[in-house]
Amino acid sequence: MSRSVLQLREVSFHYEGERDEEKLSIFHTLNLSINNGEFISIVGPSGSGKSTLFRLITGLEQPAGGDILLNGEIRKDRLGSVGYMPQQDLLMPWRSILDNAALPLELKGIKKAMAHKQVMELLEEFGLKGSEYRYPSELSGGMKQRVSFMRTVLSGSNLMILDEPFSALDAITRMAMQEWLLEQWEKRKKTILFITHDVNEALFLSDRVFVFSEIPVRTLQEVKVPLERPRNLRDLNNPDVIKLKDHLIDQLRVKVKP
Ligand code: ADP
Ligand code: MG
Repeated sequence: MSRSVLQLREVSFHYEGERDEEKLSIFHTLNLSINNGEFISIVGPSGSGKSTLFRLITGLEQPAGGDILLNGEIRKDRLGSVGYMPQQDLLMPWRSILDNAALPLELKGIKKAMAHKQVMELLEEFGLKGSEYRYPSELSGGMKQRVSFMRTVLSGSNLMILDEPFSALDAITRMAMQEWLLEQWEKRKKTILFITHDVNEALFLSDRVFVFSEIPVRTLQEVKVPLERPRNLRDLNNPDVIKLKDHLIDQLRVKVKP
């Protein structure tokens, strides 16, 4: 198997406007490569194109130019082959937790009883045991995001792409979810592409961090995070990490207009 799980080659993308001059260019010949098992974050300010990148990789949008490769192959039909977790949990309010989590399995044609069995086996680990017959409106924000992540895991893909999954959570739940996500990643050996506007979150979680620092995005600034694993949130106080954080914030400021 190819070492590269995801590759963007000279990818360009714009949104159409009513007139030509209203075209909104988001990416211009952008390159990016992510290896098997890496935890990568992409940081950019609001409106810089993070969710657009998410939609391009998952196949909800197609690039105007360039190629997107999954596991070394150019793939135009990416829908369904990348596990993803969107910004909002997108749980179906009329389905129980069990039925929500089983959805990707049912879509693959797995019988309901078998799908439920697979979900039941994961409930404990996802901190959802006893909640399987409850409905999304009865769960806390952190629980909903764990259901959403369970669904991503059950999709079975080796690449998971998460678009600001914790941005709606309160600070304490968010920290707990970050630590929990790292445990999950270390155990499952998947590749994660994590999209966020939070520099601290990116540094805590990732092997490498890429920054969107211009519009349209032409190149990504890359930093390697100099921390061992397993990590602790206190590691963010390491002087090298603080320096990196300042550097990243400076990169982001290039574009942010208050
Ligand atoms: P982010 O996720 O980083 O906040 P987005 O990728 O959602 O940014 O948006 C990037 C830019 O593209 C923004 O200026 C946004 O207004 C614009 N945009 C997003 N979706 C559409 C769309 N469907 N049609 C036109 N413009 C869009
Ligand atoms: Mg977004």
